[in-house]
Amino acid sequence: MLEIYNSYSKKKETFKPVAEGKVNIYTCGPTVYSNAHVGNFSAFLMADVLVRYLKYKGYDVKWVMNITDVGHLTDDNEVTDDGEDKLEAASKRENKTVWEIARHYEDLFMGDIRTLKLFPADKYPRATEHVEEMIEMIKILQQKEVIYETSDGVYFDISKFKKYGKLSGNDIEALQAGSRVEINEDKRSAYDFALWKKLTGKNEKHIMQWDSPWGTGFPGWHIECSAMSKKYLGETLDFHTGGEDNKFPHHESEIAQSETANCKPFANYWMHKSRVIVNNEKMSKSLGNFFTVQDLLKLGYTPESIRFTFVSVHYRSKLNFTEEKLVESQKSIDKFNDFIQFLIKSEETVENSSISSIIKSTKQQFEKAMDDDLNVSGALAPLFGFMKSIRKQINSSGISAKNKDEILHFMKSINSIFEVFDFEEKKEKKLSISDQKTVEELIKKREQFRSEKNWVEADKVRDELNKMGVKIEDKK
Ligand SMILES: [Zn+2]
Repeated sequence: MLEIYNSYSKKKETFKPVAEGKVNIYTCGPTVYSNAHVGNFSAFLMADVLVRYLKYKGYDVKWVMNITDVGHLTDDNEVTDDGEDKLEAASKRENKTVWEIARHYEDLFMGDIRTLKLFPADKYPRATEHVEEMIEMIKILQQKEVIYETSDGVYFDISKFKKYGKLSGNDIEALQAGSRVEINEDKRSAYDFALWKKLTGKNEKHIMQWDSPWGTGFPGWHIECSAMSKKYLGETLDFHTGGEDNKFPHHESEIAQSETANCKPFANYWMHKSRVIVNNEKMSKSLGNFFTVQDLLKLGYTPESIRFTFVSVHYRSKLNFTEEKLVESQKSIDKFNDFIQFLIKSEETVENSSISSIIKSTKQQFEKAMDDDLNVSGALAPLFGFMKSIRKQINSSGISAKNKDEILHFMKSINSIFEVFDFEEKKEKKLSISDQKTVEELIKKREQFRSEKNWVEADKVRDELNKMGVKIEDKK
């Protein structure tokens, strides 16, 4: 039984799908105005692990992640419905059209998704291609009399949705009392959020624009997720996931829109990825601790080590991301891969009756931990002991071809979630003379770093050697 911490009820609940055997998942995707950073990816990877584990458990999973390519304003998170459209700001900065910006960063995002081996979602709908559905939903909300029109847009009246604030734990009245956000004079409450923005004032020259019953303009940010999740996954989602910073106002507003329009619960389980900090500090461009996937690849880290750093830590614990963590991740992955090579290359002799029971008990521990709110670190821990016992069995009693298949099958099933192991048999190769020279130089360089206690650089050199097929072992 899978237990999930539901950030809506704020407790662990046993997962029960809306439809037997099927799971639908909606994840708030990127706003494509710049490169997604590792904090964004940590939230997408949380969803990826969820998707993969549900598949592992045999569910028929349908996963949708949207692409926000319009309507997300630079101040949206401050609840002002103000600021500049993030894409328009990027368009000025980079001297490209908004459409070029959107497609360019969407392409880069899709590239990063492949690099980090996220399971492909069933659909990546673009907001700009679903404005019609958004207008339809705003019309429904209008019939229900929960919205009002001002000179600059159409707003949702949050006083008409009593549960507004429940997900994020915000008491709206208290917020309003202490609010310092500049109130748009026409708005009834500073926290009423925009469904539609008209082409007036600051938005007069907004490039992406559509006709609507409320005049030409563009949709607000929140309405896209309500409209697109309904179109592709129906009125009640099993899971809705996102980053912690999406909780308010974005997810809160999605709930208000969808539940008012559909008269049904919007999502049965909400999952939020805790914010990632980098080198013990909040990630920000000004602190220079802002990493994109491409930045890390350029520094020489493997996609696997980046992926593993995020998927091997529980999503609700605060990850302090450091380069040392990437090095550690690579070491763990190497341990698994060394074991796989050892296994593939070990001689097939006799049937070993202990193998099945070792696998069985490890599998039980693994699933027990994963069933406990995707406790990945608890699930990985028994695998190190597992590798040790199997090695011992092979060395003392040998294994048969059938045993080997069984072990490999188990390792592959684990990898269907973590996706970082390498099952390809590595042939030992002879180094050329020039390679030998390079290897000698690299070893010297590494020794230098080690004597300076510069472990990060030393490990990088070791990884470089590993890539050449040279394994370094430090012995006393
Ligand atoms: Zn969303």
